[in-house]
Amino acid sequence: MFIAERMARLGTESAFEVLARAAALAQKGQSIINLGIGQPDFATPQNIVEAGRKALADGHHGYTPANGILPLREAVAADIRARRGVEVNPDHVLVVPGGKPTMFFACLMFGEPGAEIMYPNPGFPIYESAIRFAGATPVPIKLHEKNGYAFDANEVLSAITPRTRLIILNSPANPTGGVVPQQELEKLAFGLQSHPDVAIMSDEIYSRMVYDNQPHHSMMIYEHLRDRLILLDGWSKTYAMTGWRIGYSVWPESLIDLATRLCINDHSCVNAATQYAALEALNGPQGEVDTMVAAFDERRSVIVDELNSIPGFRCPTPGGAFYTFPNISGTGRTSRELQDLFLEKAGVATVSGTSFGEYGEGYLRFSYANSTENIREAVRRMKEVLA
Ligand code: PLP
Repeated sequence: MFIAERMARLGTESAFEVLARAAALAQKGQSIINLGIGQPDFATPQNIVEAGRKALADGHHGYTPANGILPLREAVAADIRARRGVEVNPDHVLVVPGGKPTMFFACLMFGEPGAEIMYPNPGFPIYESAIRFAGATPVPIKLHEKNGYAFDANEVLSAITPRTRLIILNSPANPTGGVVPQQELEKLAFGLQSHPDVAIMSDEIYSRMVYDNQPHHSMMIYEHLRDRLILLDGWSKTYAMTGWRIGYSVWPESLIDLATRLCINDHSCVNAATQYAALEALNGPQGEVDTMVAAFDERRSVIVDELNSIPGFRCPTPGGAFYTFPNISGTGRTSRELQDLFLEKAGVATVSGTSFGEYGEGYLRFSYANSTENIREAVRRMKEVLA
């Protein structure tokens, strides 16, 4: 067989590999505490599950429009109006199977040999993978620990070249938990006025997980960027719906038909019953989201204190999502060594910073989608192994 050359350029998400290794060790009887996984440890709220079940009972078994059922796209537009304060035409909303398809579609749409796409590094690994797969050149946007893992807008603007087609942004971020301050976003938005051909994809999938009573800062508020901005958000993290496979994007008028065509070619539409469940998620009570975010907030302070007590660790307090990204260079080990040591000798699953790009060396990602007891026990075990 002769496999296409592009397949060699496809990357992966190591968190899934760590998960598989952790599961294999657990099956052999080893006690594993999983701080590697990027999904809420809560069940999907019952009213949402019920809406999915009812949709099946009511006969929603067929295809839906490729861009999603209209009531769901209207509910997304209403949610964006309520939370981001901007008007969105429901016809510009695309319902897709998760957050990932939007990044893949955006990279396919703008990426080709000779084109450059900028992306956060350390960042969600699929960005770089999708950019390379599309044949484009990935240009890393370095995130700085000293700035709470935000980018420096001037650095981003000065890295733009005539070949730059797309800039990918992510705040709150995976893997750092960093939140880009509004003034930095503003500086970038203002500077992008001088680069009218550059598109932006803003991954805001953690938009509901922002702490310290801070609002979420969305790129949607910059009117002058709206005709070249793609918004990525969804239900996976906010409503603990990672396995349902549903997300959404908002596309500018000039791109929505192309994005819909990608859906028609790729998956036709999102599972119909899941769309009704997602509709209930947006229109139903939000109390369980608040409870979940409050639990993450509490765990956040526990894990930061605990990790800072490990010799060689330096752990800033993340502003959002459910990850911490401590600097572990003081341990004298590489990120990958520490990931393997903790998994094999301490039974603690974490993800090496290098799984998120070259600038992740010296860091380890911890997800705090786990109980405070487990977080404390994991830190006790890691200290023991390091001692
Ligand atoms: N964007 C970021 C930053 C993520 O961390 C993730 C998942 O971990 C996604 C997108 C993808 O989410 P989904 O599971 O809905 O595809």
